[in-house]
Amino acid sequence: MGEFDLIRRYFTHPPGHAPQVVLGVGDDCALLQPAPGMQWAVSSDMLVEGRHFFPGTDATRLGHKALAVNLSDLAACGARPLGFTLALALPQADEAWLEAFSRGLLQLADLHGCPLVGGDTTRGPLNICITVFGEVPPGQALLRSGARPGDDIYVSGTLGDARLALAALQGQITLPEALLNSTRLRLEQPTPRVALGMALRGVASAALDVSDGLLGDLGHILHASGTGACIDTELTSKLIAAGAYLESAEAYFGHEFLQQCTLAGGDDYELVFTAPATARDAVARASQTSATPVTRIGQIEAAPGLRLVGPQGEALAPRYASFDHFA
Ligand code: ADP
Ligand code: MG
Repeated sequence: MGEFDLIRRYFTHPPGHAPQVVLGVGDDCALLQPAPGMQWAVSSDMLVEGRHFFPGTDATRLGHKALAVNLSDLAACGARPLGFTLALALPQADEAWLEAFSRGLLQLADLHGCPLVGGDTTRGPLNICITVFGEVPPGQALLRSGARPGDDIYVSGTLGDARLALAALQGQITLPEALLNSTRLRLEQPTPRVALGMALRGVASAALDVSDGLLGDLGHILHASGTGACIDTELTSKLIAAGAYLESAEAYFGHEFLQQCTLAGGDDYELVFTAPATARDAVARASQTSATPVTRIGQIEAAPGLRLVGPQGEALAPRYASFDHFA
């Protein structure tokens, strides 16, 4: 199988697949048509074998995740996905692997009406780089810089389960099989919160997606907005879904480890966002229309820095820096 065969067989949608794609895979450029007056939202994310995923990771899940982490960036901006490109380095053209990878990739693409429109394919160590293109009405993109003192802080879905799976796969902890399977799904097949992001246009004052851990990523909002924040760890400690599956997750894993998973785990791909207290009903509606649970976990404050409070409202020592590839 040659390069062009491979592209045609695994990475080409049928023509007329989506109205915004004037020209897809096969020419020198793809042509995309956003709705009149809309702004582009563009983002790239790369997954490197051995760094972002274990060698031998299920190819269908890998295809899903490669696009999911990119859609998550569009979600964090409140953008609607329009299409994406795929730059792929492969050690060899393994048909079973390619079939599974493209199935996971294109299924998620179909779910979000976000077709593959082009890319590049080369031989090399397994490396997957996707660029997504989305649209957002001018002035309505959700940015990191809009948080104001007094705003509520929310997070979508659950936090920390992906980190639990990672710890199990690295042999640091053992999980009962059912729990390993469910947490592993969160690690390997995250759900991008695209509908929630779009529903939060005009409601959230700031947003980003949690890829490197809640506290570290929230720090980016605080830095960009010139504010501080207070987070209630009694509320965040309930966000780890695994807690519900074990009689006493704390006794099993230890309180400190569970806290670390929820507050600094990474690979969650949930949205953390802020909104004025007057917008609580609007946030509840956005959560409902997008069928995405959200939890209020704290408040933006004028004083810089991130403060954590415990179950009795007591101040906790600051902790948990987020992941940094070069630190
Ligand atoms: P060029 O020589 O102009 O870089 P290529 O020969 O690399 O073009 O690619 C041929 C066509 O196939 C182009 O339309 C390109 O966008 C598309 N393409 C290449 N690799 C991929 C891929 N992995 N997924 C989707 N489209 C791809
Ligand atoms: Mg090329």
